[in-house]
This record gives sequence, C-alpha cells and structure tokens, in this order.
Amino acid sequence: MDEVATRLREAGLRATGPRLAVVGALRALGGHRTADEVYAHLVRNDVAHSRMSVYNSLVALAGAGLVLRADVGRGAVLYEEARTWHHHFVCRRCGQVSDVSCAVDARPCLTPREDVGVIDEAQVLFHGTCHRCAEVRDER
Ligand SMILES: [Zn+2]
Ligand SMILES: [Zn+2]
Repeated sequence: MDEVATRLREAGLRATGPRLAVVGALRALGGHRTADEVYAHLVRNDVAHSRMSVYNSLVALAGAGLVLRADVGRGAVLYEEARTWHHHFVCRRCGQVSDVSCAVDARPCLTPREDVGVIDEAQVLFHGTCHRCAEVRDER
C-alpha cells in the first residue's frame, strides 16, 4: 500500500489510516461498491474505523481523484478504485453496473450548450437491459 500512500501525498492528502484502509478495501472487493459495503468489509476484517470516517475518506479520495464516484440513480452512490475515467451502464432489470469506456478518457468529456459555469466533470449514465437479462427473456 506504499504506492497508495505516495499517491495520496501527491494529491495533497495525508495518508491517514482510514484513507489507506478504504483504498485497500475497494481494491480487495473490486468493482463498484457502496460506502456501506466498504465499511462492512473493514468490519469483517477487524479494521476499526467508524462508518463516518469511511464515508469522509471516500469523499476525500474521490475529490483527489484516487477513487471514482458514480451516481447510478435510485439514491445509490458507488465507489471504485480509480483507473481510467469512464461511465456506467445500469441494467434496469437486475441492477448490474458495467463500465462504459469514455470516448475521451478524460474529464469533462461533454460540454453543455449553456454557459452554467466551469465544468470539471460529466457523468454519463446509460440504462437498458444487460445481455444476461436479455437472454433470460428470450429463453422463456
Ligand atoms: Zn440485467
Ligand atoms: Zn466503473
């Protein structure tokens, strides 16, 4: 996790225990995870940090770009270890979240027609039916 501590410092953040633990949890869990799932993982592994410190760490890490935060609707916010900037597809039937490549690979990849201010991020959320759900339906 030394590399994570270095990246935290490069982003101007102190490498605190909760922040390192949160990145470690996201890495161990893989994929897209809620703050509660990250917290539950740490509890299971006897890492003692409060739910609030886990939540605050996720916000700080997302702000520094070490963690990606995706709003996937229905009030759910998912976090994942940051790799390339990308978007998400959410299946309306099973709720599965898949990554969708960004054509630009950088934020913000869309510019609105209106001049609303300085845009630094555009999240695109695709909805539809995933392949698996489409197949299940065809078989009936
Ligand atoms: Zn599905
Ligand atoms: Zn993703």
